[in-house]
Amino acid sequence: MSTGRVLPVDMDELAACVSCGLCLAHCPTFRVTGEESRSPRGRIAAMRAVEADGMAGPAFREMIDTCVGCRACESACPSSVPFGHLLEASRRTLAERGVPWWQRLAYRALGHHRLLVSLSRLGAVGQRTGLLPARLGARLGLPSLPLRQAALEPTGDDVWLFTGCVMDAWQRSVHRDAMAVLASMGVGVALPGPQAACCGALQSHAGLHRQAVRLARRVIAAFPGSAPVLVDSAGCGAALKEYGYLLDSGEGERFAARVFDIQEWIAAHADRLPPPVPGWVPLRVALQDPCHLRHAQRAERHVGTVLRPYAVLVELTDEGRCCGAGGAYSVMQPELAGRIRGQKMEVIAAAQADVVASPNPGCALWLAAAGARVMHPMEIVARAAGLGPSPRQELSQNSREGEGGGSSLTNRSHRGEGTSRRLLPPGNSFATAPQEA
Ligand code: SF4
Ligand code: SF4
Repeated sequence: MSTGRVLPVDMDELAACVSCGLCLAHCPTFRVTGEESRSPRGRIAAMRAVEADGMAGPAFREMIDTCVGCRACESACPSSVPFGHLLEASRRTLAERGVPWWQRLAYRALGHHRLLVSLSRLGAVGQRTGLLPARLGARLGLPSLPLRQAALEPTGDDVWLFTGCVMDAWQRSVHRDAMAVLASMGVGVALPGPQAACCGALQSHAGLHRQAVRLARRVIAAFPGSAPVLVDSAGCGAALKEYGYLLDSGEGERFAARVFDIQEWIAAHADRLPPPVPGWVPLRVALQDPCHLRHAQRAERHVGTVLRPYAVLVELTDEGRCCGAGGAYSVMQPELAGRIRGQKMEVIAAAQADVVASPNPGCALWLAAAGARVMHPMEIVARAAGLGPSPRQELSQNSREGEGGGSSLTNRSHRGEGTSRRLLPPGNSFATAPQEA
C-alpha cells in the first residue's frame, strides 16, 4: 500500500471514484438524510480534500463517524471503488488524532475474555437488581445478560469454531446450537483457546489499527493446522476473511482462505443436514442479510440454502439494506441508527414472518430491541431438527432469560416446549406480537 500525505490510502483506490452517484440510493445514511455529506460520494470527495489540503478537521470527522461502514456502496459501485479500505484508512488517521479514553478501554476489554465475561456477569446482576437501569441497557443495546453459561466442550477436529468476544459472553447458546447442528452432520468441532478472544473487527472499524493487528496475530496463532475455521457471526467472519489485507502478509491470506461463514460451509454439505423432527411446522422466516455477510463476504445466499428444509423463506423487499446496527454504530450514532432501523422495521413488518433469521449478533440484538423476533439460523435448524438444549443448558438459558431488561434473540415462550410447535401461533406475525420484556 502506498501511503498518502494524510490518509494511509492507496491513491489509485481513492482516485477510482468517478462521482457517478450510482451508490447514493444504496447508502443508508444518505437515504435517511438526503445530504451529500452523508453519502459515499461526498465522503470520498472529503477524503480527497483532506489529501489535497492536509486538514482532517471536525467536519471530516463528522462525515466519517456517521458512516455505518455497511459497504453497500461498494457492492453498488460500477467502478469497484473499495470504500471499506478508504473508510478504514480515514478512521485510522482520525484515531491517531484522538480516541476518547473510555472507548480505548472498552475496545481493549474485548481482547480479554475473562474480564469481558466477568463484566457481563456484573451487568447481569445489575439488570436483575435494577442497579443497571433498563434505559441505559437499551442505550447500550444490551440483551438480557447471562448470569452463568456452561462451558463449551470440543467434539473433534474436523473444523474449528471461532467463538469470539461479545458473542461468547452474551450468546454462547448460539455456539452450542451451531455445534449441535455440526454434530448431527457428523462433523467434530475443535475450540480455540482464550488467545482467540476477539477478531479485532470493532477495533479496526474504530481506526485502532495496532490493536486490530495484535488481535489478528493472536487469532491466527490460536487456530493451528489446516482445518476450516467456521464463524457464526457475520461481522467476525468478515474481519477474519480480511486478515490478508489487515496484516498485509501471506500468513494472513492463508488463514483467511480457511475461514467460512458457518452457513456458507454447511451449505456446501447440505446433504448431511438432519431432517426436521416429525410434526415440525415450517416457520415463515424472513431473511435478514447482515451487511458484513452481503457486502463484505458476499455469502448471504447460503443462509437460505441451510434454512430451506425447515422454513418457508421470505425475502425482504429492500435488497438487503442495512439495519443500522453497524458494530458499535448504534451506540455511537443512536439517532441516525434509529432512523435507519425504522426503515428496516417497516420492511420486516410487511414480510409478515414468524421470525427473522439473522446470522449476525449485532443486527439480531439491534432489531430485537425494536420488537422484532429474531433467531440465528443455527438456532432455527437446531430447534427444527430436535437438537435443542439439554436440561443443563436449559437451566443456564433460563437463568439468562428469567429476569432483567434488554432484548432476547429468541422467543422465550418457545424454549423448552418441544420442537414440533411453531414459535408463534399460526397466523400471528412477529410484527403484531407483543414485544419481549
Ligand atoms: S459504507 Fe454504508 S453508510 Fe458508509 S458511505 Fe458506504 S453505503 Fe453509506
Ligand atoms: S463510489 Fe462508485 S458508485 Fe459511488 S459515486 Fe464513486 S464511482 Fe460512483
